[in-house]
Amino acid sequence: MRLDVVTIFPEYLEPLNVSLVGKARVNGLLDVRVHDLRQWTHDRHNTVDDSPYGGGPGMVMKPDPWGEALDAVRADGDPGIAPVLVVPTPSGRPFTQELAVELSGRPWLVFAPARYEGIDRRVIDAYAEQWEVHEVSIGDYVLAGGEAAVLVITEAVARLLPGVLGNAESHRDDSFAPGAMADLLEGPVYTKPPVWRDRDIPEVLVSGHHGRIARWRRDQAFRRTDAHRPDLIERCDPAALDKYDRAL
Ligand code: SAM
Repeated sequence: MRLDVVTIFPEYLEPLNVSLVGKARVNGLLDVRVHDLRQWTHDRHNTVDDSPYGGGPGMVMKPDPWGEALDAVRADGDPGIAPVLVVPTPSGRPFTQELAVELSGRPWLVFAPARYEGIDRRVIDAYAEQWEVHEVSIGDYVLAGGEAAVLVITEAVARLLPGVLGNAESHRDDSFAPGAMADLLEGPVYTKPPVWRDRDIPEVLVSGHHGRIARWRRDQAFRRTDAHRPDLIERCDPAALDKYDRAL
């Protein structure tokens, strides 16, 4: 998968060199290219923002550098591969595991993280006529810029790519993972030692009984979801859970 990020703070994307994403780059599974938006400005001050039409506080990112940047990124890619533009914005569609799965199936993502009050609307409208465009919010709060959102989205997408996680099964039981326990959060997890500060691990986990362990995990997932995200229980498909129970 190829990822391009156009930003006025390229150094903010340094974490893409470490951990899982960094390793995926080294292994050739991810081709990440970070571009400084200011290279597509033509004035002495490398201006990327201007005052908003209609008045109001804050500044708006100018369309000219963004248009030139996105055209240059496009021109530098395989003409046979369609880029998907991802625009982080608090007014976008909520970023979910479902969308992460969808984006992980695309060969080329181009991120346009903004600063100030966002990017001139005409840029998004113009590219939506040629490219698939997703305006995405990572939560109901407002960040100073979209770079942190790019890191979040990239990590969620990258770990779904074949070969990125050591064990391909490890995201199967994740919270929100599609499947029998879809829409439930993952329950608690434990490792050695069996007793820590007088606290035992749940006995069932060393019973060796796969059916009981799976049932226990499902019950814990249900309880945790009920406690932290009752809205997810509302959406839970009882038929899927019954099917899962019968298989135990
Ligand atoms: N005035 C804008 C609004 O209320 O929708 C907020 C602009 S914010 C200060 C600057 C940039 O940070 C946004 O354009 C976006 O790129 C990014 N950003 C802020 N909060 C975000 C969120 N919750 N999800 C994704 N991106 C966000």
